[in-house]
Amino acid sequence: SNKEALQRLDAAHHLHPFTDGRALQQKGTRVIERGEGVYLWDADGNRILDGMAGLWCVNLGYGRQELIEAADAQLRQLPYYNLFFQTTHPPAARLAATLAGLLPGDLHHLFFTGSGSECNDTVVRMVRHFWAERGRPERRVIISRNNAYHGSTLAGASLGGMKPMHGQGGLPLPDMVHIDQPYHFGEGRDTDPHAFGLERARQLERKILALGPERVAAFIGEPVQGAGGVIIPPDGYWPEIQRICQKYDVLLVMDEVICGFGRTGHWFASEYYGLAPDLLCMAKGITSGYQPLGAVAVGDRVAETLINGGEFFHGFTYSGHPVACAVAQACIEVMQREQVVERVRDDIGPYLQRRWASLGDHPLVGETRGLGLLAALELVADQATLQRFPTDTGAGLICREHCFEQGLVMRAVGDTMIISPPLVITHEQVDELVEKARRALDLTLSTLSN
Ligand code: PLP
Repeated sequence: SNKEALQRLDAAHHLHPFTDGRALQQKGTRVIERGEGVYLWDADGNRILDGMAGLWCVNLGYGRQELIEAADAQLRQLPYYNLFFQTTHPPAARLAATLAGLLPGDLHHLFFTGSGSECNDTVVRMVRHFWAERGRPERRVIISRNNAYHGSTLAGASLGGMKPMHGQGGLPLPDMVHIDQPYHFGEGRDTDPHAFGLERARQLERKILALGPERVAAFIGEPVQGAGGVIIPPDGYWPEIQRICQKYDVLLVMDEVICGFGRTGHWFASEYYGLAPDLLCMAKGITSGYQPLGAVAVGDRVAETLINGGEFFHGFTYSGHPVACAVAQACIEVMQREQVVERVRDDIGPYLQRRWASLGDHPLVGETRGLGLLAALELVADQATLQRFPTDTGAGLICREHCFEQGLVMRAVGDTMIISPPLVITHEQVDELVEKARRALDLTLSTLSN
């Protein structure tokens, strides 16, 4: 069949991102052919509810005419031009101004990239350039967190705290160090959550003092760690991090590649947590995933130094690609017209969290948690003691496969099951998602007991 021919070509020639090649050779690939709204269709005609919005990005769902038309119009008008050497084009200039109006605090300046990883590489170069221009070139160290995900480029993977990624390629790069994450269920569930959050935040202070504050350039974190397993920090964590950054004049960088553009019920999660970052990274939802685009928002203080510091030798051919910028502009306009962010905050977010929490009575579930349209549940071997499965059980992967059989994309991070559905999901589709998740949990339980 057509599908099998495609799978053969793919297995012979295509090296996939984040894929175990042997598993792919044995089992073949899933072929996704079409999308509409929150649904995907595979090559066998199965309809699948996309509980991950692609990779946390298709916030407006598949098949949005406004975005398709914006791309089409821009392709005809000016399919490509660059922003190097004192040049601009209308989509980039307009989008920078639109974003400056949406962002919290004094994040009034935008540097465009093609992806979230490129944003984080840009941040590393920007903050070091900033301190060098200020006569403090020794301020080079960037502190991030274990289990963070900041992308796959050398700097992104180094800032990230994924040990298997560090193991491949001799990472992290020098002057990039990590502290622990505020993962209460995984690492502190016998302690009071608030005290645990404060203790994890204070690791930052201890790290800064151990390194010497005069060596530390910046701290970077995701408001809610996404790929690490939707880790919602306890109250008190972020205010304490901000206090410590201010005390030692360490720049605060928020990686909102997942959290930005309404995912948490706010345009940016920094607003929700009351943060005033010096820099903020965004990508994914900026175009609803329809075009590759990222942006680093820069506060007045850092921007002034960059502007007055001569040429910043940095940029990408696709920095602020005009088609991507036009789609982002259309995406933001749709979100404003349809009040997508307000709906996540006041209606569909709380509804999803209520329905998701109902899975907490399932014998496999040790905890449910979430914020906006992000949610996670922890699979446990014993609900009474919250004991986890031995890692070689692979409970998460078993559950993920049962979700697929039910027509639901849900992701497994170890034994943490996570969702991040399109922001336009309806109440009925939330019900469908939760019912499919429950059936998958039942099937996982019977698979594990056989
Ligand atoms: N930062 C965060 C928080 C992410 O979740 C991701 C991707 O999942 C990235 C950065 C990397 O973005 P990209 O894959 O567009 O390079």
